[in-house]
Amino acid sequence: MSEYTITVVKNENPKPKPASDQLKFGKYFTDHMFIYDYSEAKGWHNPRIVPYQPIVLDPAAMIFHYGQTVFEGLKAYRTKEGHIQLFRPDKNMERLNLSNDRLCIPAIDEEFAINAVKHLVHVDSEWVPDAEGTSLYIRPFIIATEPYLGVNPSSMYQFIVILSPVGAYYESGINPVKIAVENEYVRAVKGGTGEAKTAGNYASSLKAQEIVSKEGYAQVLWLDGLEKKYIEEVGSMNVFFKIKGEIITPELNGSILNGVTRNSVIELLRHWDLPVTERRITMEELDEAYRNGELEEAFGSGTAAVISPIGELAWGDKKLIITEGQTGEVSKRLYDTLTGIQFGSVEDPFGWTVKVK
Ligand SMILES: *Cc1c(COP(=O)(O)O)cnc(C)c1O
Repeated sequence: MSEYTITVVKNENPKPKPASDQLKFGKYFTDHMFIYDYSEAKGWHNPRIVPYQPIVLDPAAMIFHYGQTVFEGLKAYRTKEGHIQLFRPDKNMERLNLSNDRLCIPAIDEEFAINAVKHLVHVDSEWVPDAEGTSLYIRPFIIATEPYLGVNPSSMYQFIVILSPVGAYYESGINPVKIAVENEYVRAVKGGTGEAKTAGNYASSLKAQEIVSKEGYAQVLWLDGLEKKYIEEVGSMNVFFKIKGEIITPELNGSILNGVTRNSVIELLRHWDLPVTERRITMEELDEAYRNGELEEAFGSGTAAVISPIGELAWGDKKLIITEGQTGEVSKRLYDTLTGIQFGSVEDPFGWTVKVK
């Protein structure tokens, strides 16, 4: 269904590009953006690439009042040869439609959305940085735009894609982080919106994040919303533990976000014939493995950091120091392989990369 043509209005006043050592996450934006409108009468229509600019919305637009919105996050990578490629964009658009369904937002055509992202990245291709570890972060999102204060699904939407050049996540190579287990607040419950990438999940997570960051922790580890027993995931990452050689990640249960990186990690581990299990795991079990000297590695997985080794896990008064606070062997191998595939320096036997240019 990719027969619509995308109109392009070029930005006549391109911005100066930040130096690669100035790049931060999500601070700078490129010269263009993609917009696509939805109305009940026309469906999704008028796809266009326009100069990056503010959007004008009615103050009654439903996004402002009831938070009907979804988003995605993926990256474009520049290879050594100067090509530009995406990593598994089909997974992001598939997940966008799952989020859409949960939030009563009309589905988008996934193939068309991938083409729109490719087209936009192509137009702003000079913005894809080439310094080691840098990339162009892609943020597709959909907002409810109908001006109406009734609590029901909007009849009007905008699908927008913006681009942001980002620096290497780790300034001096892959580095372990400190994570605090959250015992009071919860992120999601079964039947809620935890499986959707939707703004409300993040708004409600800020409080816990604010508290632990004052204590020097990078993020929180969320437990299940009902019993606060089972491990779910980290703020913006899925989580894995290596216990006696077995690599365990919480199974998808309706309240955990189904990460593209999580899925890629599982596929890679299987490809390497390493034992990987998706199952429920409690904090109790993890602590017991730790006390028995059987907890060998812990790491988070997500598009931003790819693999984030966990060097310390605080759980109430307990402090679990994992892999002696260093990066574990499996974490390192996964990081090197995934970033290698993304930047085109390692062969991609899975067909995960999609060429833009
Ligand atoms: C986006 C996200 C992840 C990671 O997903 P990726 O597709 O791997 O980037 C994990 N957990 C939450 C809550 C997220 O929002």
